[in-house]
Amino acid sequence: MAVDTTSFNVAFPSGILMSLQPPVATLIHEDGTEEEIDVDFLEEGDMIKILPGSTIPSDGIVTKGCSSCDESMLTGESVPVLKKVQDAVVGGTTNCDGLLIVRVDKVGENTVLASIVKLVQDAQTSKAPVQAFADRISQFFVPGVVIIAVITFVVWYSIAESNSIPSDWKSSSHKGDPSDKPFLFAFEFAISVLVIACPCALGLATPTAVMVATGVGARCGILIKGGEPLEAAHRVSAVIFDKTGTLTHGEMQVTSCRLDLEPDTDQLLAVLVAKAMESGSEHPIAQAVIRYADTRLKDSQDKRIVKLSSFEATPGQGVQALLECEGRTIHALIGNRQWLTTNQVSIGDSEAAIAGHESQGKTVVLLAIDTVFVGWFAVHDTLKEDAASTVQALQRQGILVIVLTGDNQRTAEAIIGPLGVDALHAQVAPAQKSAKVAELQRRGEIVAMVGDGVNDSPALAQANVGIAIGAGAEIAAAAADIVLVKSRVQDVLHAIQLSEATFTRIKWNFLWALGFNMLGIPLAAGALYPPYQFSLPPMFAGLAMASSSVTVVISSLLLNRYQPKDLDLEPVSDDKLKKRKLLRHAQLVPGHVTMSTKSATIGAVSIGALMLMCMVLMIMLLTEPKTCSSAAPNHM
Ligand code: ADP
Ligand code: MG
Repeated sequence: MAVDTTSFNVAFPSGILMSLQPPVATLIHEDGTEEEIDVDFLEEGDMIKILPGSTIPSDGIVTKGCSSCDESMLTGESVPVLKKVQDAVVGGTTNCDGLLIVRVDKVGENTVLASIVKLVQDAQTSKAPVQAFADRISQFFVPGVVIIAVITFVVWYSIAESNSIPSDWKSSSHKGDPSDKPFLFAFEFAISVLVIACPCALGLATPTAVMVATGVGARCGILIKGGEPLEAAHRVSAVIFDKTGTLTHGEMQVTSCRLDLEPDTDQLLAVLVAKAMESGSEHPIAQAVIRYADTRLKDSQDKRIVKLSSFEATPGQGVQALLECEGRTIHALIGNRQWLTTNQVSIGDSEAAIAGHESQGKTVVLLAIDTVFVGWFAVHDTLKEDAASTVQALQRQGILVIVLTGDNQRTAEAIIGPLGVDALHAQVAPAQKSAKVAELQRRGEIVAMVGDGVNDSPALAQANVGIAIGAGAEIAAAAADIVLVKSRVQDVLHAIQLSEATFTRIKWNFLWALGFNMLGIPLAAGALYPPYQFSLPPMFAGLAMASSSVTVVISSLLLNRYQPKDLDLEPVSDDKLKKRKLLRHAQLVPGHVTMSTKSATIGAVSIGALMLMCMVLMIMLLTEPKTCSSAAPNHM
């Protein structure tokens, strides 16, 4: 059994997660002797002994024993999972009650625990695009501040040098004496400007918020792979869902099966063939067919073995394989209608019967052996409990909800119809799914694609935000930007809300950081010196600068209090909904100004205004009538 490295409930920050791994393992040598060794020395193929109640040191396969394991720290599932011979165990989980002998199959960086830690760490250190805004501001800000500092120095120096400072302008906080030490006097103002204007709070604004938010997401079962998807999610205007395994449980059941279309069909062989073929597929339908075959073969005396010699899965259509049974080579196909017809297999007059099942919301998969259509399996799937409420809540936010499925129109309509989505497209091949995403993007929509299977990966990669749901295919999770480990549909909305909360926080952080500088720089430049003889010594400027960084960090840490909100199912008035839709789709309105250009403009205007203020102040000071005494007082 392969362990899906993506299906975790990372309830802990990465450091704590890694510490779940025990430091030592009990190695069993070939001669049966045991030795305690450091886990770092474990190698693939080593046999280790795991006592009841102890933590499993590394990933491996059970070779002896049977026990239940508590995997809650990875899956969130509190009920222990039974582990017997040939089952996979995961390092860091707890062996509850039995003795297990495990063959190590993954060590070090390759373990499930290490890979999840890496995912979270990479996400936490990645940049959000909004960071570019801070970088852009810093680009102008730093030279701007140096210029202001130089101007400050020149102005104060020339005023002090020319003895233009009134004798009663004494400042206890200022070291330099305007008349005795004009250089020191002016230099202090300039240094204070440089110190207080250090843009470190601006630099901290985004990364700290991204770091906290990815941690919060992980705690809620929403793994966000970095700042970019975290930022993009709050702008999403259209959400596309896949059907099978995403909106539905994907735990399908075969509800009826017909393999007697051809009178001379060997029905048991057909079941064996279907089972052998589907054993190579990750599709939920494949699991249903295997389960059905197992129950049907349980009481049979048939001991024939069907071996798979070649296998090819075409995502969104079906499987084709060559099989061997008692010296005979069988070519078989299993999949949808389209799959059979593209392979030149006619379905004869069964169309009406198949359509009947489909109108009841069942997916019918057809089986052909040696180019003869022999029968079908009708599989049934149910909607996830939170599918309808999530669709409604998303629509209430003004978000467009679309469903794309590879399944046929009738089945799709029967299952998805009650959800009331904005659009439903059936019989969509994987490549068409990503083309559909691209088409929406061309229209200006910011698209989130939610899917679970291999067939969704191209669309997940194409979307602005690819969201893989649950323990689906690893390949889907690899193509996605966000992984919802709890397999809940509502987490799509929670991911969007977390992104909104993070982005609002980042905006506040920018405001704190910029506002602080806006206020601090004129103060440090001596704006209050003429009226109140107040000046900010470099030491206090340093303190103020540090406190602005601390404020930003605390502001980011406040994100830790984020709790996923319950789905908002309050009815909204048409007016409000229209407004929300407009807001969500603002980027579709011609002449729309994007957030980043808007912020950059505000930033630039503020800095410009600040410089203008300084200039005016200096001109005022320079043109002030001389009311000073030639002997300026000493002040400290
Ligand atoms: P969805 O988009 O709803 O997740 P898919 O694109 O995965 O559906 O599959 C579309 C159709 O292709 C299925 O309804 C089924 O008829 C067929 N199909 C895909 N894979 C398999 C398989 N392994 N076995 C049988 N049929 C399959
Ligand atoms: Mg699917």
